[in-house]
Amino acid sequence: MSLYPDSSTGIKEQSSTCVQKDVELLRDLNAKGEERDWKGKKKRSILMAKHLEAVEALAKKAERMYDCGNYLVFKMKDGRLKLYQAYFCKVRLCPMCNWRRSLKIAFQNKKIVQAVNEREKVKWVFLTLTVRNVEGEELKPTMDQMTKAWNRFAGYARFKKSVRGYFRAMEVTRNWDKESEWYGTYHPHFHVLLAVPNDYFGRNYIKQTEWTSMWQKAMQIDYKPIVHVAKVKPKKESPDFVEMEQEVRKTILEQNAIFEVSKYPVKDTDVIRGNKVTDENIQTVKDLDKALAYKRLISYGGILKEIHKELQLSDAEDGDLIHIDDDSDEVANGAVDVMAYWHVGLNNYVISRRETNG
Ligand SMILES: [Zn+2]
Repeated sequence: MSLYPDSSTGIKEQSSTCVQKDVELLRDLNAKGEERDWKGKKKRSILMAKHLEAVEALAKKAERMYDCGNYLVFKMKDGRLKLYQAYFCKVRLCPMCNWRRSLKIAFQNKKIVQAVNEREKVKWVFLTLTVRNVEGEELKPTMDQMTKAWNRFAGYARFKKSVRGYFRAMEVTRNWDKESEWYGTYHPHFHVLLAVPNDYFGRNYIKQTEWTSMWQKAMQIDYKPIVHVAKVKPKKESPDFVEMEQEVRKTILEQNAIFEVSKYPVKDTDVIRGNKVTDENIQTVKDLDKALAYKRLISYGGILKEIHKELQLSDAEDGDLIHIDDDSDEVANGAVDVMAYWHVGLNNYVISRRETNG
């Protein structure tokens, strides 16, 4: 049974107006016309907060998380809503905040990759660096060890010669398979996007086996870790691109592929399973909260770091989660405020409009 009996509230979204019994529900569409899932994220945050609340030491964080995104103030711009004011709790495990972080990282990475491609002839490579699964209590020390290992890894002459810059994200997944011998263990790993020189696939090419030995050496471990490496391949074409020049087309499709790794690497569906507070979920929350505390999960290096700085992009991990893209400044002058608040009884965002003059 779902904790959220929204099917029984009788509220049905009508295609455009969403109005029923004087209640107008929030409907926020992105540039592609898809609905932004505020409601779904808020529900996941409430569920996450319930788990945190069950742990005494995490009660304060739970309190903040319950308030996360309760009020949202938008400005109307070109017929679309732009978030203008809100409170976000910024707790590492918050699904609402991590959604905002993901949107912000994706936006920033798109800008950075575009800028790199405009300036330099580079190619893009995805690299995944893993270690063996670990128990909950080993998670934090292992992640610390991996961060140190990364710094060694990126400092190797071989790396520096073959890599112009990188975006790196640490992700932790949990094994939920009760049949598996690794059941209940954690799998911390790095997803890395590398900008490599145009001649990388010639003279400066690093083979998968070589990446593996480099990572093993950096990690100072006595087993061969699993390392994946793949060239970024343009995503499948859409008909819109038919008219474009080959090279431009390829670049855009390549960027779409890159876009996919640009997510904030904490997936709440991997932290809590199902819609109920369970002991297993609580244990996972405890383990991950401890492991992620004060830890930076994403970082940039080389030319990507330089461009991040040059474009004056703010910190997507700990910074402002309201303004996640370009047009925040113009939005401030928008004429119409749309305020949405989380309605506990309806399990949804209800909106109220107020007209302002200028
Ligand atoms: Zn939050």
